[in-house]
Amino acid sequence: MKKVVVLGGGGFIGGHLAKRLKNDGNHVTVCDLKNHEYWDTSIICDEFIVGDLRNPAIVSSVISAETNEVYQLAADMGGAGYLFTGDNDANVMHNSSLINLNVIHECTKKRVKKVFYSSSACVYPEQNQLDPNNPNCEESSAYPASPDSEYGWEKLFSERLYLAFYKNYGIDVRIARFHNIFGPMGTWSGGKEKVPAAISRKTAESSNTIEVWGDGLQTRSFLYIDECIEAVLKFMESDFLGPVNIGSQEMVSINELARMVINISGKDLTIQNIQGQAFIDKYGFICPEGVRGRNSDNRLYKEKMRWSVSQPLIIGLEKTYCWINEQVNNEKHYIR
Ligand code: NAD
Repeated sequence: MKKVVVLGGGGFIGGHLAKRLKNDGNHVTVCDLKNHEYWDTSIICDEFIVGDLRNPAIVSSVISAETNEVYQLAADMGGAGYLFTGDNDANVMHNSSLINLNVIHECTKKRVKKVFYSSSACVYPEQNQLDPNNPNCEESSAYPASPDSEYGWEKLFSERLYLAFYKNYGIDVRIARFHNIFGPMGTWSGGKEKVPAAISRKTAESSNTIEVWGDGLQTRSFLYIDECIEAVLKFMESDFLGPVNIGSQEMVSINELARMVINISGKDLTIQNIQGQAFIDKYGFICPEGVRGRNSDNRLYKEKMRWSVSQPLIIGLEKTYCWINEQVNNEKHYIR
């Protein structure tokens, strides 16, 4: 039995990861600012510590000399409406950097055997993602660096931080760049939700139109959470440090994604594209579009892990829409 720590396990990916690690027979400790919104703590871990990882004393109490592996997923984080308006840049950079500085320092001090760090596709240069049909997200293309958000710059800094500790202190690290992970048990309202959740919620709530930010021709790929967790665990077992992409290569435009969700719902809805960086949608959020195109390049992952993700997008979308539709209906019921 391994002793593992999942930081940010009160969140979406961390919650799923902790649950899987516990089911696999590990002793799991989770630390997060808050409890998991949808799962009872006993389902995802053996010990749940509510604490702020910006505080070195908390990090020191969570990671012990007996800890075998640390999975670092805690970050000040959200969807485009949170990360790309500029309004949260100082907090995003300050909070996430502090967490990572504390975590890698403590892991080194306590001689943790392996540390997983969750970076992001947002590290890739904006100029390589201008053509929606042909974005370049090959791992080596991250340099010369020019991410389109401060969130991306922080991720790049922290990747380098983990690699520097590997180089100077020999601590074993694994760095993955996630590309739009989605699924049930994640944020679906309030401004921090990401595209598949936002579109599912709007579809569930509407009987005529749904608003889609931008012209809808911008492209992305989306990876279902179960495959993401599988990919993380296989990566941890390998002897490759990364950074490596973890994402899907099934690229769709945002309007195509919206049409898929509408079809799943069985409703007769039209898409209203709202354009212009300064546009405020009907929920009161500024609507940034992000880069024109982004797709995971999985060649390196496949080469190193001899495995690749394969589930069609539609399967994950069906499960996600079904869960969000249920949440929307429960909320309506609660309000009444
Ligand atoms: P999430 O927001 O659901 O989870 C992050 C968790 O970190 C939250 O529960 C939050 O409370 C916790 N946290 C934040 N600040 C903290 C602090 N000071 N102390 C303790 N806990 C703190 O996000 P997620 O989608 O599960 O993402 C997990 C990781 O993967 C993040 O590092 C994120 O940047 C990265 N990532 C996610 C995606 C994606 O598509 N979801 C894409 C790229 C990268």
